[in-house]
Amino acid sequence: MKPAREQPGKVVTRFAPSPNGELHLGHARSALVTTEWAKARGGRFLLRIEDIDTARTRETYVTGIYEDLHWLGLTWEEPVLRQSQLFADYGAAAERLTAMDLLYPCFASRTEILAASDPAKTDPDGVPLYPRLGKRRTAYDIERDRAAGLPFALRIDMDRALEAARTKNGGAPLTFIECGADGSETIVEAHPERWGDAIIVRKDTPASYHLAVVVDDARQGITHVTRGRDLYAATDIHRLLQVLLDLPAPRYHHHALITDADGRKLSKSAGDTSLRALRKSGVTADEVIQRALAGL
Ligand code: GLU
Repeated sequence: MKPAREQPGKVVTRFAPSPNGELHLGHARSALVTTEWAKARGGRFLLRIEDIDTARTRETYVTGIYEDLHWLGLTWEEPVLRQSQLFADYGAAAERLTAMDLLYPCFASRTEILAASDPAKTDPDGVPLYPRLGKRRTAYDIERDRAAGLPFALRIDMDRALEAARTKNGGAPLTFIECGADGSETIVEAHPERWGDAIIVRKDTPASYHLAVVVDDARQGITHVTRGRDLYAATDIHRLLQVLLDLPAPRYHHHALITDADGRKLSKSAGDTSLRALRKSGVTADEVIQRALAGL
């Protein structure tokens, strides 16, 4: 497959943080790489707030994202897209997949799933693969649980989805284009099967990261998804969903992560130094920018 030639001036990038913690240096790197990517190509830079996790989202984190990015000197187009206002659209996309017979409900709890799974078989994030509990149930049991109003997730039937994607793709393998920082392009074969029957609609919120991200990258006309290397493997599922939902394929650029002294990636939960804390301690925006971009 020959990648389509990039049209100058048509580049659209986005930074898409989840407001469930303070931004740290790793986010600064992503945001800066993304704005630079757009600027260098005369493109547009969009900000998207990925707040589908309504239980963990805090408005103070949303405000904090705006403050931190402004402090770094970044500007973006208004209005900012908020995923929490778009659940109906994710529902419609899930409906399409359901109509194709590619999703099925799973009522099992995390504990039940863990107990039934094989710890030796894990997805690219190291989580044991879903043991397809929902597939082993009778239609009668499923209807009874639905009627009782029990919460359930919708999972993708990976075998069927791969088959459907293969047909839609004219038998060609699923691929995506990974761009290097130097502008080189590599065609990468996607392997969504590594994720097993992944969750497409969560139990606790009517969407999932995978579903919302592909719907919104298409809605916003994103031509280049620039994000951390930790999301490289997730691109497999994103490509699968894009093909199934007839959405365009953006190009991807997964940048290196900033790691701590032990070589672990920075995280919100591990209490790594947040941009807000750095600012309060007197570190300047220029110093943060230099640290965020060091080693790229
Ligand atoms: N919302 C995701 C995060 O904060 C990033 C999504 C993406 O860039 O695809 O990790």
